Amino acid sequence: MYAMAGDAMRGREAGTLDEMRATAWVADQARKAGLQPMGDDGTFFQWWPMHRTRVGDGSEISVGDHELTMWKDAIVLSRGNSDLDLPIVFVSDSAALEHTDVHGKAVAMVLPSIATQPPAEFTIRGNFQSTTSQLVRRMASDIARAGGAAAILIANGTPDQKMAFDATATVTMRGSYTIDSAGAPAGSYARSSAGRGAQAGRGGRGGFASAPTFWFRHDMLGAVQAPDAHLKAFVFTESFDYPSGNVVGVVRGTDPKLADQYVLYSGHQDHDGVRYPVMGDSIWNGADDNASVSVAMLAIARAFVQHPAARPVLFVWHGAEERGLLGSRWFVNHPEVPHSQIVAVLNGDMIGRNSVDSAAILGVQPPHKNSDALAAAALRANAELTHFTIDTSWDRPTHREGWYFRSDHLPYARAGIPAVMFSSLLHPDYHTPRDEPSRINFPKLKKMADWMYATGWIVANAPQRPDVVANFKLER
Ligand SMILES: [Zn+2]
Repeated sequence: MYAMAGDAMRGREAGTLDEMRATAWVADQARKAGLQPMGDDGTFFQWWPMHRTRVGDGSEISVGDHELTMWKDAIVLSRGNSDLDLPIVFVSDSAALEHTDVHGKAVAMVLPSIATQPPAEFTIRGNFQSTTSQLVRRMASDIARAGGAAAILIANGTPDQKMAFDATATVTMRGSYTIDSAGAPAGSYARSSAGRGAQAGRGGRGGFASAPTFWFRHDMLGAVQAPDAHLKAFVFTESFDYPSGNVVGVVRGTDPKLADQYVLYSGHQDHDGVRYPVMGDSIWNGADDNASVSVAMLAIARAFVQHPAARPVLFVWHGAEERGLLGSRWFVNHPEVPHSQIVAVLNGDMIGRNSVDSAAILGVQPPHKNSDALAAAALRANAELTHFTIDTSWDRPTHREGWYFRSDHLPYARAGIPAVMFSSLLHPDYHTPRDEPSRINFPKLKKMADWMYATGWIVANAPQRPDVVANFKLER
């Protein structure tokens, strides 16, 4: 845990060398645990191209003599290329648009203050960010509708808006990520971009203005309000591939008749990398998310190596989960063993926080349950061994977090493979630099690893492979 989620790993962000370092580290640990390689070409690795589209580094924005530093002074919110040289007209608010000639001009407005909302019941962070971001988009839409040629929204100088600006910049500068859809099972993720779950809380794009849209830091207000202020913007998008990777290892079973029936343990080794500082720390360590499951899988692997089960057990650490479940989607599209030979997927995401007495499992209630036997095995393992009080609310389709849709079991379930997800659920350090090894509840992590291990042990030794629920259909 301390090695994988220490600062030296720099937050393991997919699309950077930091994830590759973590991927290589996991493979090395898997080898030491006694797993046999089950990736490509006799290695532990399955490398695949992550396709990325973002605003190009050479893009330039200036106001008069001020050259703005991209993502520090300005966020580009619109998509596509633009080459602009426009006079700037400053208006007080959307209502003033009616009495102002904005045609052919860049229209600038200061964002009004919006009341800081108390955190929603479960969404720990990001409410204010998404509310502010939606406000920016709505005002930009007003400007576009009034005939403005470009929209400039300026932060009003409050700490809340500064934080919302930084949070939006850090996401937007990275662009969007996807994988080629070749090999996708029919009806699964055909041509879809990043996984919807991973986008939760970021705010929708519906009704967004068609004009080029920029969000400026508060410091730019003077330059924008200067007489004869001019906006020059040369913005272009670029697309490229960068490798991400899955780590795949196996423990062979003892029963030759079951040699083609794999129980699959799933986690992800990536996290969110180095971003803007929170309380002086800019490394988003991802100890709970998801070093907790990654290291639990190593422990489970050692246990199966010592005492192999009847069936073989496959271990897959997925890359780029945080970028939209990309590694698991890739593996499902390009499986190292055929889908028909994967009898169950036991995924875990964040299993090292909150009370040692309670936990959650998803995929055991309709419409998320896609195997009665797998659900029963997990519940039996808990009843006999770990005795967690199970929080059942997160597995319901009505739960506002949509937790079921936010981790790597989902592509497998959509492909018709029995799948469950183990989790100790959200906490205030979720997706912040405070998700550190020192804040892990190690007795809890040990118990969750026990639960995942015992469930896999039951499934891997059962006389029958788990059933698949007929007519399985998720709510979205
Ligand atoms: Zn995660």
